[in-house]
Amino acid sequence: MATQTERSGTGQGLGARLRATSKVLPEHARAHNRSLVLQHLFHEGPTSRADLARATSLTRVTISDLVSVLITEGLVEELGTRPGQRVGKPAILVGLRTDAYQIVAVDLTEFGRMRGAVLSLTGEIVVRRQLDIDGRTGDELVDLLTRFVRRLVAAANHPVIGVGVGSPGIIDLDGRVVEAPNRGWYDVPLAEILGDRMGLPVHVANDANTAALGEFTYGGGSSGMLVVTVGAGVGAGVVVDGVRVHGQGDAAGEIGHVTVVDHGECACGRVGCLETVLSVPALRRAVADKNTEDSDAALASAGRVLGVTLAPVVSALNLTEVLLSGPRDLLDGPLREAALDTIRQRTMPAINSGLQLRMAALDEDVVLAGAAVLVLSAQLGVS
Ligand SMILES: [Zn+2]
Repeated sequence: MATQTERSGTGQGLGARLRATSKVLPEHARAHNRSLVLQHLFHEGPTSRADLARATSLTRVTISDLVSVLITEGLVEELGTRPGQRVGKPAILVGLRTDAYQIVAVDLTEFGRMRGAVLSLTGEIVVRRQLDIDGRTGDELVDLLTRFVRRLVAAANHPVIGVGVGSPGIIDLDGRVVEAPNRGWYDVPLAEILGDRMGLPVHVANDANTAALGEFTYGGGSSGMLVVTVGAGVGAGVVVDGVRVHGQGDAAGEIGHVTVVDHGECACGRVGCLETVLSVPALRRAVADKNTEDSDAALASAGRVLGVTLAPVVSALNLTEVLLSGPRDLLDGPLREAALDTIRQRTMPAINSGLQLRMAALDEDVVLAGAAVLVLSAQLGVS
């Protein structure tokens, strides 16, 4: 995550912020104000109390109180005065103590292994771990995940404020896996189970939605984008007008089980889902034992199927960007080009003239970064 390291080193903003959509109730005002302050410090870097008051439209007194509490909690620190100031009493800058706490993140996108990391609050990866899944599913996989998270928490060298997990499947806002056929998880309250076992706040969300969060906050993603994750299965996360789209069943972006071809049994029990063409195992099978020309043709064919699937989505939502996240050797070539050509052929120029279809900027760390954003936004109100 080179971009994050650069950004955090400059003390400037740390990426895009999602637009808040929920209404503020009076009893939530204090938490809301607190998150406004943290959000500003997170994105804009060290700031004086007076500038914080101006930026958040809160009174100087409210800001002073909030900053005092945040300093006591160890989340914020005073950083001396702004250099180069000539007139008046120099204002003391306050900044987020990005080194005070760490986040544990896990990416369950891949079929064969889980990937995990300890991250700083600015999204830099401090420790990496991975663990083979060895075909485990259901309860066994939950137990393995618990051991993995325990190892990651033990590897942190600062207090962990929370654990974020990006997993395939339909996952509700409480982190309950409604359905993840590839994992053998049906109605599993994963966040609650892990939270009880770890004694830490745990946040679980769909891996593609998590990737969209990571790309939006840390990767410079635009305010109208679809992030398609290609791993053991295929999913997508959607951001429209700067807001992450959840959908009425928390399943927005679930494109992997749309029927697109007339053959190939799917883990969901139906035939011809997008996953049977575009998942990593399916793509690896399609290119196995082929020369370059034939393998390019097979990847382009999968790209056309993706393009056919995405054209109505891109058109209906008037998206600016489609990002692909997954193995570059499979996705970033004939597949990506064929998908873009197909979308262009099937949509109006007004829709497709500025459309980009590119690889996710954060590459294979995108779900880990997004899982960290899950924790930041839930624990600190920062996104
Ligand atoms: Zn299916």
